[in-house]
Amino acid sequence: MEQPILKNKHYEIEIIDLGAQGEGVGKIGEFTVFVPEAITGDVVEVRLIKVKKSYGYGKVMQIISPSPFRQDSKCAVAAKCGGCQIQHMKYQVQLDFKTKKVKDCIERIGGLKDIKVKDTLGMEVPYHYRNKAQYPIRKEEDSIQMGFFAQKSHRIVPSNKCSIQDPKNEQIMQIVTDFLNENHITIYNEETHKGLVRHLMIKTGYHTNEIMVCLVINGHKLSKADLLVAELRKVDGVSSILLNHQLAKTNVILGGETTLLYGKEYIIDKIGDLSFKISPLSFFQVNPLQTEVLYKKALEYAELTGEEIVWDAYCGIGTISLFLAQKAKKVYGVEIVPQAIENAKENAKLNGLTNVEFFTGKAEEIIPTLYKEEGIKADTIVVDPPRKGCDIYLLETLKDMAPQKIVYVSCDPATLARDLAYLVKEAGYTIGEVQPVDMFPHTTHVECCVSLKKN
Ligand code: SAH
Repeated sequence: MEQPILKNKHYEIEIIDLGAQGEGVGKIGEFTVFVPEAITGDVVEVRLIKVKKSYGYGKVMQIISPSPFRQDSKCAVAAKCGGCQIQHMKYQVQLDFKTKKVKDCIERIGGLKDIKVKDTLGMEVPYHYRNKAQYPIRKEEDSIQMGFFAQKSHRIVPSNKCSIQDPKNEQIMQIVTDFLNENHITIYNEETHKGLVRHLMIKTGYHTNEIMVCLVINGHKLSKADLLVAELRKVDGVSSILLNHQLAKTNVILGGETTLLYGKEYIIDKIGDLSFKISPLSFFQVNPLQTEVLYKKALEYAELTGEEIVWDAYCGIGTISLFLAQKAKKVYGVEIVPQAIENAKENAKLNGLTNVEFFTGKAEEIIPTLYKEEGIKADTIVVDPPRKGCDIYLLETLKDMAPQKIVYVSCDPATLARDLAYLVKEAGYTIGEVQPVDMFPHTTHVECCVSLKKN
C-alpha cells in the first residue's frame, strides 16, 4: 500500500527539473515537490513544509549529493538577499533554464507548437552589469543599514558588495552612511512613517562614466546637504546629485518631485552610436551591454529599408524609436509617462534625428485614435510593454491595421505567450523566431525579442 505524504516529514529527493521561478522540482512517487534553492541534479533531504493534494513544498535540510550544475555564489549574502535567485547555478545552466522557460510558456500558455526559440544570448562576464541601484536605508539597533530586501520581505540584508551592481557604488554608500551618522540625520521607519532618509539611488553611464546620486527623503529638506555634496563630488564621475521627495506612505520608491543639489539634472549614456539623457524618474534599461544586443535584434527583425512608417509602442525615453529612426522613413513613439516623452524629444534632438514624433498617452488609445482619425498606418510595429503585456485594445488595433511586420519585445514570457497566441490565432500572423536575451544574469527574469509577419 502507498504511504501517505505527510507534512513535516523528511524525504530524500532527486531534483529532476526547474520550475518557472528557478526552484527545484522532484517527485515522491507521483507527488510533485517544489524545492527552493535546489537545482536539477541535486539529491537533497527536505522537510515538507506544505502539502496539497498532488504537490507540495520542501525545505532543504541538507544536500546529500550536489548537482554538477552548481557553482559557489560569488556574493556572500546570495542565499538571503532577494535580488538574485540563481547565483548558485553555473551560467550556462542559467541560460538553458531561461530558454526552456520561454519554450514552456509559448507551448503551455500560448498553445503554440513548433515555434523556433533560439538559445538565450548571454553575457561574456555576467557580473556587475547593472547601471541602476536603489538601496533601502533603515535603522537597526542604532546602526544604519543599507543593502537589499530579503525575498518577499522588507527586512534589509545589509551588504555593500553586490556582484551585479557597479563596484563604484560601494564608495558612494560609505560616504552617504558616514554623512548620515556624523550629522545625526533621521532614518525612515516604514511602520511609523517617521524619519527622513528612505533610499539611495545611484545611476551610472556605462560608456560615459557619469554618475547620478539621488537620496530619497520623506520631507522637503536635508540639513547640511552641502557637506554631503562636498564629499560626493570627490568621487570620480559624480556629475549629478539630487534629492527626491517621497512623502507618501507607500512601497513606491520615488516621489514625483526632485531637487537638484549639484551638477546636471540628468546623466548621459550611449547605446550603440546614440546618446541618451537619463533622468531620475524615467525608465532606462538596466543592463547597457545586453540592451545593445536586444535592440540590434529588434532592428534586425524590423528589416527596415528606409521607406517604412513605424510605430514604437511603450517607447520610454525613445531608445528603440531612435534606433529604428536611423533606418526608417518615419517613426512614431507612444509612452504613458510624460517625463519620459520629454526625454524622448530631447534625445531625438541630441542625436539630430528629425523623422520621429512622440505622443504621451496609452498605446491602446493613441494608436487606434491616430489610425482612425488621421489615417496613420504603420508598416512595422514594435511593442515593448511592461510585464502585464499588451492591452487587448492594442492587439485588436494591430489586427485591424495589419502591419506587415510586428516585433514584440517582452520582459515576461507568460504574457508574451498569451499575446502571441492572439496574434497567431486571431490576427493572422506567423512567428519567425523567438530570441531570448539575458538582461538579468543570476535572476530568473528573461527578456525576449520576437519577429512576426502578416500571413
Ligand atoms: N521601450 C523602452 C521602454 C520599455 S518599458 C525601452 O526599451 O527603454 C515599458 C514602458 O511602457 C515604460 O516606459 C512604461 O512607462 C510604459 N507604459 C506602461 N503602460 C503603458 C501604456 N498603457 N501605454 C504606453 N506606455 C505604457
